[in-house]
Amino acid sequence: MNVFVQSPKAKASLAYGCRYRAHPSSPLKRLTFTTLLLLLPQSQNRCYSYRSLSPSLFLSRATITLHRSLSPHFPNPNFLTGNSCFFPMERFWSGSGINKNKAMVENLQTYGVVRSKKVAEVMEKVDRALFVPDGNAPYYDSPMPIGYNATISAPHMHATCLQLLEENLQPGMHALDVGSGTGYLTACFALMVGPQGCVVGVEHIPELVSSSIQNIQKSAAAPLLKEGSLAVHVGDGRQGWPEHAPYDAIHVGAAAPEIPQALIDQLKPGGRMVIPVGSIFQDLKVVEKSLDGSVSVRTETSVRYVPLTSRDAQLRNA
Ligand code: SAH
Repeated sequence: MNVFVQSPKAKASLAYGCRYRAHPSSPLKRLTFTTLLLLLPQSQNRCYSYRSLSPSLFLSRATITLHRSLSPHFPNPNFLTGNSCFFPMERFWSGSGINKNKAMVENLQTYGVVRSKKVAEVMEKVDRALFVPDGNAPYYDSPMPIGYNATISAPHMHATCLQLLEENLQPGMHALDVGSGTGYLTACFALMVGPQGCVVGVEHIPELVSSSIQNIQKSAAAPLLKEGSLAVHVGDGRQGWPEHAPYDAIHVGAAAPEIPQALIDQLKPGGRMVIPVGSIFQDLKVVEKSLDGSVSVRTETSVRYVPLTSRDAQLRNA
């Protein structure tokens, strides 16, 4: 397990990644994928191995963070996963007191994750409870297991991606959601681009595609699914979905070892893709294709996501 430290001035932060569970035979099955982060001030973000820490600093920081991470608030300690490694708090709120979708969105606004009116409106319209499997606290700021070694991303991560893609989700635009999972973001995208737009979700687990369609049918995006401006398909998202390309916005909900060329090719000039890249250490990359076709890539933040891989590898928990 890697542990990162922060200066005494900075706050402790736990990396929640949208991650696979450890294999059941693993002795570290509860914590294998947990990365504890203690964050340096923004200007000097750095990571250290726990071996380089003084024992007392390591213990005090790690104990606080472990305690928080394993507190009774946490819905499922097997899923110490999440998304952003570099948000200023380990999560934006605990489960208690947040029992309404609107309150969840207000919290995201309070913490500055949701900044635009449009993103707030869409997140208010698409009730997250319809997408989170029964038995989980839907408005809790954490990823939740959805079966098949996958998770629904944490609300702050969904909000971050919506904010990053907002300009490329204008009415009438085309969007692709790779690794659409529960269909939550796919539904949000569809509401943003509206009936004149086109949103395609691609997910390689057929059962998740079926359940995501059922989720969307109960949501505010149901009419768009019915009218055909929103569709979810079974497929290998690494190949994109050429039929409706080029896309103004591409979101990838699983971490790729490198940015798939097919997705770059299917990005429209002027388009933007948000994609987590990496394996153990992952960065959320923002890929932009300019009008002359040149491509730029920048890092938004550090994250933790399920791998973008083959169906077999995912189901094997490889
Ligand atoms: N945005 C989704 C994230 C789901 S987790 C949500 O919040 O609900 C990532 C998803 O990517 C999983 O559902 C997983 O099955 C899917 N996935 C992984 N590799 C894939 C691939 N090669 N093609 C399509 N989907 C993939």
